Amino acid sequence: MSRETIDVLVAGGGIVGSALALGLRQRGLEVGLLDPLPAPCWREDAHDLRVYALAADARALLAALGLWPALRGRRVSPYVAMEVWDAAGGRPWRIEAGRLGVPQLGHIVEHALLAEGLRTAALAAGVRCESGAGLAGLEADGEDAVIARLDDGRRLRSRWLFGADGAGSTVRRAAGIGMDVCDYAASGLVALLQPERPHAATCWQRFLPTGPLALLPCADGRVSIVWSLPEPEARRLAAAPAAAFEAELVRAADRVLGGLRLDSERRLFPLRRQLADPPLRGRVALFGDAAHVVHPLAGQGMNLGLRDVAGLFEVLDAARQRGGTLSPARLARWARRRRSENHLAAHAFEAIHRVYSNDAPLPVALRGWALAAANLPPLGRVLWRHAAGL
Ligand SMILES: Cc1cc2nc3c(=O)[nH]c(=O)nc-3n(C[C@H](O)[C@H](O)[C@H](O)COP(=O)(O)OP(=O)(O)OC[C@H]3O[C@@H](n4cnc5c(N)ncnc54)[C@H](O)[C@@H]3O)c2cc1C
Repeated sequence: MSRETIDVLVAGGGIVGSALALGLRQRGLEVGLLDPLPAPCWREDAHDLRVYALAADARALLAALGLWPALRGRRVSPYVAMEVWDAAGGRPWRIEAGRLGVPQLGHIVEHALLAEGLRTAALAAGVRCESGAGLAGLEADGEDAVIARLDDGRRLRSRWLFGADGAGSTVRRAAGIGMDVCDYAASGLVALLQPERPHAATCWQRFLPTGPLALLPCADGRVSIVWSLPEPEARRLAAAPAAAFEAELVRAADRVLGGLRLDSERRLFPLRRQLADPPLRGRVALFGDAAHVVHPLAGQGMNLGLRDVAGLFEVLDAARQRGGTLSPARLARWARRRRSENHLAAHAFEAIHRVYSNDAPLPVALRGWALAAANLPPLGRVLWRHAAGL
């Protein structure tokens, strides 16, 4: 093992981990970044199936990291409206950027584009990026440092180890952090489709008894769908002939964009709620999906992960103004705040999922009432400003 001790080792070079490593390096820390996969690569000729609806605060973080200008003109699509409606009836809940006094509500961005941009910027800023090397285990090294064991046998010593290594986090297991899990026995089916009518830069979401269906507007005119379905249904629809799949999808989408032509493969993601508790133990902290996995119905998983990162930068910036740096007390304050926001969000999305996947008269009446209340101008504006991270 080298005798050197770096400030922070980030395990996980997805979007959350790369953003974290880049921002810490920009604040003058010595940072290492590990990921077992090769460096991410965005392709002009192939649309990534994983796309995110980024809220305004996530975009602000990316802009502060210096990434936003490099994304312009590369299939980043602003959305200016959102419409949510219930298959059981009632008025849709619609909000438009103009009514909130902003140019857009957020942006649709491909995973590969963000991941590549952040990793390239991290390398250029001097983060020591190790693609092809994952974390295999941890060894304590007194109270002031952690030793990470890599899967190629090397050992690295750092003052802090930050796990952004996704839902199956090795960091979480190695640190002995417990997890509260609720398996929804459902999958998210994602695919790209060409709609008959223009998507009008609007995010559409219809609540069905089987789970929500979201259609997100892509820069090239297609829509990216996230269709939450009970597992057997999801498997059946993922394997159905294209024409049969399109017919069921058009019905599920209430013909909101007319016909829909399948224009990609179909992929399934398991849906569950997972909350690591606590997200901080000793010198190890968890970020993004390593700390919390939420139902995709509100499209907030990545946004919450980036809020973990922005929250840490706030704590560090305040400390630096007083000549300080990361400390156990400051990390503990950050962890308390993030835990409460992430737990609240995960349980709120789960409650919405349960109320909308239920056809009994009381939940249906409650939903109608909730959507009507959300359409009242002052309340609707407050709710949407919060959801859009404004
Ligand atoms: C169907 C679906 C749709 C979604 N839609 C949206 C949306 O519209 N908007 C939104 O905000 N969120 C959305 N999400 C959530 C979003 O995908 C996740 O919250 C987000 O990808 C988490 O990012 P992450 O960087 O924390 O983890 P990941 O993207 O999982 O990255 C983890 C990284 O860690 C690496 N790694 C793994 N093991 C190790 C190890 N041992 N050592 C080091 N590195 C390791 C992996 O290779 C990977 O690069 C959706 C999720 C699903 C399932």
